[in-house]
Amino acid sequence: MHTTEKIVIRSSSLPSYADCSRRTAGKLLAKELAALGITLRETSQGVGAALGSSTHQAAAYSLNSKINDGSLGNATQAMDLAFELYHEIQKTEGIVYDGATPTYDRAELQLKTLVNTYRSKVAPGITPVEVEVRLEADIGDGFVLSGQFDVREIESIRDLKTGAASRAHISQYGSYALLCRVHGRTVEQIVEDYLPRKKEPEPEYFYYDAEVAVNAARAILKRIKDDVAAFRESGEPTSFIANPQSMLCSDRFCPVWGTAFCREHKNKGEKE
Ligand code: SF4
Repeated sequence: MHTTEKIVIRSSSLPSYADCSRRTAGKLLAKELAALGITLRETSQGVGAALGSSTHQAAAYSLNSKINDGSLGNATQAMDLAFELYHEIQKTEGIVYDGATPTYDRAELQLKTLVNTYRSKVAPGITPVEVEVRLEADIGDGFVLSGQFDVREIESIRDLKTGAASRAHISQYGSYALLCRVHGRTVEQIVEDYLPRKKEPEPEYFYYDAEVAVNAARAILKRIKDDVAAFRESGEPTSFIANPQSMLCSDRFCPVWGTAFCREHKNKGEKE
């Protein structure tokens, strides 16, 4: 198996690769798998991811305003931007609700709360220099790393997370730091601004040393390269470790669930 097209690795896929390499490899190698007759399944977005992306819209608007004139901009406009994206995701991909957000009405309330809390409690403490800048770097062997950080301060990067529970994303942050360094930006520290998806979210802040994060990112990038090379050599999906214990191991969230690329998931009620 041979391809000349470069594979683009998104920063956000690094923690996912550590969670289930097979699932993330399926997305990375979609074209190569299609050539082998394996078509990825359509998947929906979880409500957590949809609320997160939508809150980011309002955050980016607010921080860009702060760069321009020191204010957080118009509150209604920030909220409208968040809801525009939420409705767009709902229309184009579909949103799967969960225990923390079981209905649209609850999602609507949570999105309003997340945006208002971000603007009143998190954004005032940020001194933005750049907002949502995408950077890319050729990392060799036919791979390109591509990542878009949320906001950069003078010597740090900040990333907003809004999950039902806080999870670590150090390799994602490390890849942002790596990209910033390649493009002449100094990053000494990474700060995660975490807003829990609940009725009265209180912001929490998690701090990561950039060096530790960069090393975590490098380790996963190396593993991706090695695993892809092994797969191209053998054609064996087991070149990528599958993790059926992953929270995202389901027909709704995994694009290779039940395909010839992965049949390691639980298989209720069906004899193989
Ligand atoms: S079906 Fe489960 S184990 Fe297999 S790739 Fe998807 S998430 Fe991983």
